[in-house]
Amino acid sequence: MRKHIFNAGPCKLPDATLENVSSAVIELGNTGQSILEVSHRSADFQAVHDEAINLFREVLDIPADYSVLFLGGGASLQFCMIPYNFLNTRAAYVNTGTWSTAAIKEARMWGEVDVIASSEADGFTYYPPFTIPADVDYAHFTSNNTIRGTEIFTDPDSPVPLICDMSSDICSRPVDVSKYAMIYGGAQKNIGPAGVTFVIIKNDMLERVVAGRIIPTMLRYKTHVEKGSMYNTPPCVNILGVKETLKWIKSLGGLKAMEKLAITRSDMIYNELEKSKLFRPVVKEGSRSRMNIPFLLREGHEGLEKEFLDFAKSRNIVGIKGHRSVGGFRASVYNACSIEDVKALVTAMQDFAAKH
Ligand SMILES: *Cc1c(COP(=O)(O)O)cnc(C)c1O
Repeated sequence: MRKHIFNAGPCKLPDATLENVSSAVIELGNTGQSILEVSHRSADFQAVHDEAINLFREVLDIPADYSVLFLGGGASLQFCMIPYNFLNTRAAYVNTGTWSTAAIKEARMWGEVDVIASSEADGFTYYPPFTIPADVDYAHFTSNNTIRGTEIFTDPDSPVPLICDMSSDICSRPVDVSKYAMIYGGAQKNIGPAGVTFVIIKNDMLERVVAGRIIPTMLRYKTHVEKGSMYNTPPCVNILGVKETLKWIKSLGGLKAMEKLAITRSDMIYNELEKSKLFRPVVKEGSRSRMNIPFLLREGHEGLEKEFLDFAKSRNIVGIKGHRSVGGFRASVYNACSIEDVKALVTAMQDFAAKH
């Protein structure tokens, strides 16, 4: 039986993705070859690659003067590639938790980092407001903080190129891509299996690469843009997984439909947390993520953690153990997480509370 999956990443994927990728592992179309075997230079794979990019363009409404890349190395490699390519003297970063802290650490290897806002002093329990200065090479922020469970739902105005790590909320709401110079993330949180990183980059950024800096070929965006994201062997089966998931998103009505679902799912959980006698939310209202919802036991009940995890497990609920830096529990309710999954969790919370 399929479990109710609330893993923070890799994420739950739609049944259609699992079925269509499985079938392509046996045979890709009528090629007589598996997706695991087919040449990445063949017309058959090129068609998969092109469709994945075109679906991404369509679903996210990506303007024509942007390139879409599927790379390796995870979002973590982007933390280093971004400053390597674009940080000449100073960049502005917003610090909203573990992942932005990791991005800042890499950027400091290449230049000065101006942390323009941070919620660190408050345990990253809210999304701090920020204004982007005009005298920096670029500005960077994390739209959804997977570990802390905070999220920003607007596309900020910026006088400089704006770069966003959207690993864990990509395709969960419509985004005005034209406000960004670059959007990137690991696919495994919301749009596919682990092993592929998406990069949406405005083509004029290639002219902003730090002059005179020697950058290894694989770490230059230009290399990948010029080769249509096929400079080296791409992660073929993962790209197919992304393609199938984007097709599924489109079939449900695109990002407006995803946003509606995300609001419904997260409201169900936050409403329960607000009224529960046993559980409470961690994040302040106004900053609450629709994707990752950390929650704790209320005062006096802290000892029940292991018991609730076992109780949830007995109801086929997996992946709700909290990140070690927050403790307690975390429900990750990504695009493919169904209302039934959320109902199962909320019912488990209610039944467990009734027992205590
Ligand atoms: C998971 C995550 C990362 C790291 O992604 P990898 O693909 O594992 O390198 C970076 N940023 C955010 C917001 C994440 O959720």
